[in-house]
Amino acid sequence: MNSEMMTDGFHLVVDALKLNALDTIYGVAGIPITDLARLAQAEGLRYFGFRHEQSAGNAAAIAGYLTQKPGICLTVSAPGFLNGLVALANATTNCFPMILISGSSNRAIVDLEQGDYEELDQMNAAKPFAKAAFRVNRVEDIGIGIARAIHAALSGRPGGVYLDLTAAALSATLDLDSARRSLVKVVDPAPRQIPAPDAVARAIDLLAHAKHPLIILGKGAAYAQAEAEIRQLIETTGIPFLPMSMAKGLLPDSHPQSAATARSLAIGQADVVVLIGARLNWLLSHGKPPLWSETTQFVQLDISPTEIDSNRPIAAPVVGDIKSAVAALLGAIQPGQVKAPADWLDVLEVHKKKNVERMAARLAAEPSPMNFSSALRAVRDVLADRPDVTIVNEGANTLDFARNIIDMTVPRKRLDSGTWGVMGIGMGYAIAAAAVSGKPVVAIEGDSAFGFSGMEIETICRYKLPIVTIVLNNGGIYHGDKPGERPSPTGFVQNARYDKMIEAFGGGGYHVTDTAGLGEALSEALASCTPALINCVIDPTAGTESGHIQNLNPKSALKT
Ligand code: ADP
Ligand code: MG
Repeated sequence: MNSEMMTDGFHLVVDALKLNALDTIYGVAGIPITDLARLAQAEGLRYFGFRHEQSAGNAAAIAGYLTQKPGICLTVSAPGFLNGLVALANATTNCFPMILISGSSNRAIVDLEQGDYEELDQMNAAKPFAKAAFRVNRVEDIGIGIARAIHAALSGRPGGVYLDLTAAALSATLDLDSARRSLVKVVDPAPRQIPAPDAVARAIDLLAHAKHPLIILGKGAAYAQAEAEIRQLIETTGIPFLPMSMAKGLLPDSHPQSAATARSLAIGQADVVVLIGARLNWLLSHGKPPLWSETTQFVQLDISPTEIDSNRPIAAPVVGDIKSAVAALLGAIQPGQVKAPADWLDVLEVHKKKNVERMAARLAAEPSPMNFSSALRAVRDVLADRPDVTIVNEGANTLDFARNIIDMTVPRKRLDSGTWGVMGIGMGYAIAAAAVSGKPVVAIEGDSAFGFSGMEIETICRYKLPIVTIVLNNGGIYHGDKPGERPSPTGFVQNARYDKMIEAFGGGGYHVTDTAGLGEALSEALASCTPALINCVIDPTAGTESGHIQNLNPKSALKT
């Protein structure tokens, strides 16, 4: 057949992505997908080339969270695939939709374990870590393969999907007519799931009799983009709310009904708790004492029916998508039927006031060198009138302090270590947040956390992204070594100059040692809208082991 009437696997992948409005690829080029990356870029897709697949995968995952479209990560075979697999597992754990597409070696050789270049049965390796894993062996199946991956990533509880593209399928040809017919434009990949009316009635009945009701918002609610409905539910019922860390900003943290500054008291005394897109996992102490009362009853809004009763019995499950579920509650609540009692709000108010005063005193201190509180106060003051900025945040103490100190006013502008409490998401999340929003990003990083993805500052400089990375530098994991000590398992080079790293790639480096300098550097870097890194020197003794989760370190039962 005339070659003008033919196409190949490379073109079909690009055509299938474009047909489904998947317009951005985060990847690392190499055998056998280099030509695929080149072609995608030539055909108008945005291609971001990374230095390590884990960061490319993290970028794709968070792009999925921000856009409700699966983020696409492209990697080479075996080791590149395995590097990306960490991000795929993290996406699945966090319920972020993404598709990891990896090229793979010759199937016949791989399956007989005859020792091919980068030999690995990638599809089966991916399965335990992904919501679904598929392999495309024939060029005519590329369209269907991508359609199946999109449906799997987006429907129900979102997650990470692996799609294996064999080198043979990429290089094979197909006539144009068959090729066109093989493509699939997916219809309604995240169908609305409207909860059953009796489930809605059961939830309202429980809430109508609550003396100490509380609403907890999770990142599932943020993903669902249901902030308008959620605000209406909270404001018409007067029920206080607590945001999980990535749900901050769904309603502004300054909202009078936020109980964030009375968190433990609110959780401990609540008699009916409504979970909206939040799981009763370790981040909520599994719903168990001592934080929680034994008698608390739960309403849980979640898209996944198997999440119900995972840690505590749920009296009123409302299974559906959050937008539909909250709308159904609003539609069925009679005027005045659900109202948070005034004495409950008074109790919270008194406690909030006390805690805010205590926190203000701590934040006002001006120690030298800086500590986490004073440095993050300076960052907070600069960001206060920049609701357009996305904040990426990781590190142990850096995460604990920043989450509490920096208020959010806009949904989906705070991206952090998430469900796994994982380190290494920093630069990948920051790059995708800048790519998706077109607005500045501030990545607030512990010096240890930064190290896991630090080489991506070259990627940031190459694409000239408006990302300011602040490294809270105390010289180690949790804290630095004492002078003269040999490197301990947690210590790094003391007085490291992370600011000089970004200068090597043409970005702006700042070295700051006090809050005034930090505020000025951040203002200047944000105004310039170009890549910058602020090496923020803090007290090497600042920081506690494991931050707020020290209790998770196993302690020997041996009596010494
Ligand atoms: P957080 O860490 O903020 O508490 P989690 O990730 O633990 O949040 O919980 C998110 C929950 O939201 C998951 O149980 C997931 O099934 C659910 N979820 C995700 N997307 C939706 C959606 N569109 N509608 C309803 N529930 C959703
Ligand atoms: Mg540190």
